[in-house]
Order: sequence, then structure tokens, then C-alpha cells
Amino acid sequence: MNFIQVDPSKHNILVVDDTPTNLRFLAKLLNREGYNVYKALNGQMALMACQTASFDLILLDIMMPDMDGYEVCQTLKADPKTCEIPVIFLSALDDALDKVKAFSIGAVDYITKPFQFEEVLARVQYQLALKAAEAEILNLNAELEQRVKERTRQLESTNEALKEEIVERKQLQIKLLNMALHDPLTNLPNRAFLMGRLDEAIARAKQQEEYQFAVLFLDCDRFKVINDSLGHFVGDELLSAIARRLEMLLSEADTLARLGGDEFAILLEQVSDIGMATDMAENILQSLSNPFQLSRYEVFINASIGITLGDREDDKPEYLLRDADTAMYRAKALGKARYHVFDPGMHQEALQLLELENDLRRAVDRKEFIVCYQPIVSLQTGTISGFEALVRWRHPTRGIISPAQFIPIAEETGAIAEIDLWVLQEACDRLKQWQMRYRRSTPLTVSVNLSGRLFSQTDLTEKIATILTQTQLNPKYLKLEVTESALVENPDRAMKLIQKLQCSNIELCIDDFGTGYSSLSYLHRFPFNTLKIDKSFVDRIEQTREQGLVMAIIQMAHTLGMSTIAEGIETSSQFAQLQQLHCTFGQGYLFAKPLQSSAVLELLDSSPQWRSTPTGGKIT
Ligand code: C2E
Ligand code: MG
Ligand code: MG
Repeated sequence: MNFIQVDPSKHNILVVDDTPTNLRFLAKLLNREGYNVYKALNGQMALMACQTASFDLILLDIMMPDMDGYEVCQTLKADPKTCEIPVIFLSALDDALDKVKAFSIGAVDYITKPFQFEEVLARVQYQLALKAAEAEILNLNAELEQRVKERTRQLESTNEALKEEIVERKQLQIKLLNMALHDPLTNLPNRAFLMGRLDEAIARAKQQEEYQFAVLFLDCDRFKVINDSLGHFVGDELLSAIARRLEMLLSEADTLARLGGDEFAILLEQVSDIGMATDMAENILQSLSNPFQLSRYEVFINASIGITLGDREDDKPEYLLRDADTAMYRAKALGKARYHVFDPGMHQEALQLLELENDLRRAVDRKEFIVCYQPIVSLQTGTISGFEALVRWRHPTRGIISPAQFIPIAEETGAIAEIDLWVLQEACDRLKQWQMRYRRSTPLTVSVNLSGRLFSQTDLTEKIATILTQTQLNPKYLKLEVTESALVENPDRAMKLIQKLQCSNIELCIDDFGTGYSSLSYLHRFPFNTLKIDKSFVDRIEQTREQGLVMAIIQMAHTLGMSTIAEGIETSSQFAQLQQLHCTFGQGYLFAKPLQSSAVLELLDSSPQWRSTPTGGKIT
């Protein structure tokens, strides 16, 4: 094999012909046209050339000794390395069968000898262009395939990322929903969740005749005391512990929810009668009566429970909760640590209460309150030493309403502060007038009741001082009465306030002594000037045992340097006994009921003196 000239940028053409003249002629012309031309004189040389160099085209003679063009072509086509090289046959054979055979074994063209070089050139150019186009197409295809692969990969990874995002979002949605429907402290369902459950229960009750359910509203008793004395952290811990204890009593089908604060609600499913709901309430109360072992403290807590049955046509979740809540309030009013079942009459009462609450807000502005004064009598001399100021509400349509009825409401709504300060102002003013009118060696005093709710007012002592200045009353003639419950709620704050008041020379009196709890420990801790023995002891003073108790109270008070007042003396015999026991003062219907200020003047004008005669008569 030999060649004329090699240029790497040009196409390589192999010319195979056993006639050297033909070979030279073709090579020369093709070379002149700009091709690298390789020459082979027989089939063997041609095949060898194809193994060593790479060709873009082969011009192949058919008739050659040893190995003809057909065999060369077949060998090339059978070899993957060479099968793609286009082969153009050059032959003197002009039979159609020869041409058919040539094409059938893989030739791309067929040129009959003798040929015109222009024809050879045109066919060579055409085949090379075709091959170039094919190569281009292959290239483009490969590129396209690559791009498709790349794109597919990108799409797959985007798809993967999207899938992950969807999963994340779903998880977030579940989390948000969970947060929206649960209480984070106890992990219990919250009010919104319970409302949904109540809706379902109501719908089910309408469809299924035999299905009935109950709602229990539970509120812890004195929870505030725990929070205030042991701190919110302990309060929170206790709430979680209560939640866990309640859960243990319920079945899977029931719903326990925390409504907020120390309030829980339970939806009891499949309740055949009210007995099942009250049994559950009893179980709860029983279970809560065991102490709670918290991380640092052992705590006792009770609860009041209101129960209502979901059995009415017009049930709505909010009505059910409201009714159970109303019943719970009744349980509290009846002494706490108990349950109460709702009855529709209570709803009416609750409405009236609400009305009263609204009226009360306006009563302060409308000056609907009046103060009555009940004399406090020195039991040794039988003369009046002072008065207790007792407020009354002159309701425009309901008439006189007693403080026992509206003070608790005023305490709840916060109106109490305004009322108490108004009473204080009024009483100090009145007393000053009486002191000026009746000049006595021991001037009259006035006792004013102070709700524990006022203890939270940081400027209370300043307000009292202002009233004293305005009325020009000497503070030592003012006595403030507070009940034990006021001290229990926040003993530390109460202690500070009491000390501050005493520094201003105001006297302090513990009211209703003996009706609360821990009385003795409070007496010891708080520096009261006066102890007021509750009416319940006076009522039973004729019984020997009770007499001993009253005697012990009086002696203890005197030992601690306190004076004593007995409340609710109604009979002369009570008067006589208290006198014998050296009780300092007495107060009660035996002497006088709470009087309006005009009646007080009449009484004072008559300078009364009482003696414990069997009839309890008054001597003037
Ligand atoms: P309290 O301070 O223990 O007042 C004594 C209550 O016993 C008064 O009831 C009085 O009328 C009544 N009472 C007095 N003697 C007798 C008697 O011989 N027999 C009977 N059965 N009752 C007698 P009232 O006026 O209805 O007041 C009830 C409670 O309301 C008071 O109990 C006091 O805790 C509270 N309160 C009254 N006025 C005010 C006030 O201005 N502010 C505050 N925060 N509470 C007040
Ligand atoms: Mg009182
Ligand atoms: Mg009292």
C-alpha cells in the first residue's frame, strides 16, 4: 500500500484496484481534489490497510485475483471496526445482478467502468457528505440523549425534593393542627377539640335513639392558693399530674380536655343514665383526695364538678359547657369538693346572677348603696363603744339586697374595691360627725369590713390615709375587719399590709373567727388587735362544750393581747354568759339591728345602757 500525501484535516480514501494504471489515475485525480488517497493492489492489502488506518470511504474494484471485491466488502462489513466505512464498487461488470449483489452485501454505490472522473468525484463527494450528515445526526442524537438524561436527572431530583417537601409539610400540618387542638402544658385536647367532639356527640344522639352522653366540668378548689404560695411552676406540675390521674379513670372513647387555668372538662360517651356520670364524678373526687407527690412538694387538692346530660333537642356544645359550668358553680357554693347535677332552674338563676352582676357595675356610679351601722356594746358597762358599718344595696327594682348576696359578686367582678372604699369614706365621715356631736371620754369607734380582694391593691394604705385626712378622723378610732379567707389567699401580702396599717395606728380585727381553717396559726402570725367570735359559737354557747370552747378562745385572745367581740348576740342569756367569760364587746340583735344613720342618732341621743337581765332589757 502506498499513498501520495497525508493531510489530517482531509478525508481519507482507500482505492483498491489490481490494475496499477487505474489506481494511479484515480489516486492522482482524487488527490488533486483535496483527499488523502491510499492505494491497494489487491484485497489482502486493502483489508490490512483498514486495520491500520481509518478511512472515510473505499473505492473497491470487484474483479481481482485471489480475493474479489465482494469478499473484501463482506469481510469489512463483518468487522465492527470497519463495517461503517462506505464502500463504492468500481467494476466493468454491468449486469444488474452484479449490482444487486453489490448493494446486498453493503455497498453504498456502484460505478461502471470505464468511468468519467467527474462522475466518480460526484459520487465520492455525495457519499462523504452523506456520511458527514450521518455523523452529525449521530452527534446530535448523542447530544440530545445526553441532554434528555441530564434533564431527567434534574427532574428526578426536583421530584425527590418536592416529595420530601410534601412529607415535611404534611408533618408540619399535623403538628400545627395538633398544636391548635391541644394544650401544651398537659398535652390534653383543648377547648376547640372538645367543642368538635361535643358537636359529634350531639349529632350522634340525634341519629341514635339509645345514645346518650354527659359533660363534666371540673374546677380545682383553691388552686390559686397553690399558685400563690408554691409558685406557678408547682402549679403547672400539679395540673399535669391532675390530667394524668383523670386520664386513668376514663375509657378510650371518652374525651378529657383542659379548658384553661385549673378547669377541665370530660365528655363521657355511652352514658345510659345520670347515675353513670355521678359515679364517675365520685371516682374522680375519690381519686383526687389522695395527695399528689410532686417533685418538691406533696400537695392536696380538691375539685368541684358540674354535670349535665346531653339529652335535649336544642343541645349545642356551648350550652352544654355552660350548663355543666353553672352546675360546677353550684357545687362550689355548696361547699366545694363535691359534684352537682345541672337542672334547668339553675340556668334561670344564673341569668339572674348575670343581671345582678350588670346592675352592680352601675350601682356604684348611681350611688345605690347605703351604709347601716350596728352598735358594738361594751359587755362590762353595757354602753355603746362603737359601730360596725354594714353596706346594703338599694336596688331600683328588687329593693334592699343584703351584702351576703352581692359582696361575692362584687368580689368576682372587681367592683368590691370601689364599694369598700366608698363605705370606708362614708363611715369615717359619719363617725367624725358623731364624735363631734357626742363628746365622750372614750370616743366612738367604727369598724369597716375589708374584702381580701383589696389586699392586691398596692396603694391601699395611701387610699385609706387620704380618706382619714379628708374626714379628719383620728386613725385610732378606725377598725378594719378582715376574714380568715382573705389571709389564706396571700398570707405574705396580707402580713405586709397589716403591718403597714398598724404603723398608721389603725386597728385590725379578725372577723368570723372560727369559721375558716388554720385559725390558730393565723392568730399567732398576724398581729390583730381584736378577735371577733363568729355567731355560730354564740348560738350554741348554752351547750357546755361550746361554752368551754368560747372560753378558751377568749382567754387565748386576751393572752395574745387582743380584745374580743362576740357576734350575733340575740338573747339575754348569751349576753350574760359572754359577760361572765369576760368577752370585751358584743354585737347583735339583742342590742340593735344594723341601723340607718338617722336611727343611730336617735339611739345615741337616748344614751342606752344594757344589762343582762333575763329579759335582756335596756336601761337608760
Ligand atoms: P360580718 O362582718 O360578720 O357582719 C355581721 C353580720 O351579722 C351582718 O350581716 C349583721 O347584720 C349580722 N348580724 C349582726 N347581729 C346579728 C344577730 O344578732 N343575728 C343575726 N342573725 N345576724 C346578725 P350583714 O349586714 O348581712 O353582712 C353580712 C356580711 O357581709 C358581713 O359579715 C361582712 O362580711 C359582709 N359585709 C357587710 N358590709 C360590707 C362591706 O362594706 N364591705 C365588705 N367587704 N363586706 C361587707
Ligand atoms: Mg364584720
Ligand atoms: Mg362577722
